[in-house]
Amino acid sequence: MAKKRIVVLTTGGTIAGVGESGKDTGYVSGQIPGETLVASVPELLEYADVRVEEICNVNSDDITDKIWISLANRVKELQEDESVDGIVITHGTDTMDETAYFLSLTVKCEKAVILTGAMKPSTAKNPDGPANLLGAVRAAAGFAVDDDPPENKVWVYFGGELFDARSVQKCSASAMNPMGVNYPGEGSNWNALKEQNFFDVSGLDSLPRVNVVYFSVDANPKILLYASSVSDGLVIAGAGSGEFSRGWAEALSGIDIPVVVSTRIHHGLVTLNERLAPGRICAGRLPPQKAAVLLRLALTVTDRVSDLRRIFSL
Ligand code: ASP
Repeated sequence: MAKKRIVVLTTGGTIAGVGESGKDTGYVSGQIPGETLVASVPELLEYADVRVEEICNVNSDDITDKIWISLANRVKELQEDESVDGIVITHGTDTMDETAYFLSLTVKCEKAVILTGAMKPSTAKNPDGPANLLGAVRAAAGFAVDDDPPENKVWVYFGGELFDARSVQKCSASAMNPMGVNYPGEGSNWNALKEQNFFDVSGLDSLPRVNVVYFSVDANPKILLYASSVSDGLVIAGAGSGEFSRGWAEALSGIDIPVVVSTRIHHGLVTLNERLAPGRICAGRLPPQKAAVLLRLALTVTDRVSDLRRIFSL
């Protein structure tokens, strides 16, 4: 059987990080060029014909809307390219869940798109990047993970597991497999939904600005006012099921940009408290950073609360 043709798009992160030889910490992300990163895992060629393209080489905390748009445009072109069977993207783990979700909302996939990365730099004693890259390329080439080959959509591959783009979240700052899901069990079968959001970003060169504001005991309501003055939309990472103080509720009542209410808790469902946040939008199961991705995209087509509520209900 002919080998599948996989394109690896590299963006940087710890997987391309360099530090003192043999050490796991104190390194700089996004150093090794894409070609070198892929050439360091020759076993890839046993499973697929691999081509590499470097999109950028940054710490994933420095990913921007411009990088997202160029990545989405390139993934879209590769989806349409008949000489390509699957796409792997190497990426820092810090914001991998956001990029995966962004791509799932902006590219229609006929071929699997699989993001992967590493928790240890390439110069560590036992780097985890090569095994993750190999697993991601194998999965993109149709080799089974957990008994089944992946469907054609956006995934994160880490430590032998595939996570879907909507429910994946970086859940540990230090575990060797830091990925998990933000709503385990019930409700996680997003793929079964008939209707899903889709946004065409191909004609854009930037996205509306959305900032996340984190509530904690006695948090100054003025941070909400400041955040609203530098944003097109806000996401509140509230306490519990999206709650905050009366002081915040009062400050919020004077803010006239779209506000999505999410929670700082990692698991569970937010229900909008109309007493605290009348006329606002409920994030449902989306954690704050993913609610921000969806709000940025939604604001490219509407700023009406009723439309935004519908978009967030899907
Ligand atoms: N700071 C790194 C990044 O996201 C962390 C990692 O890749 O694990 O680029």
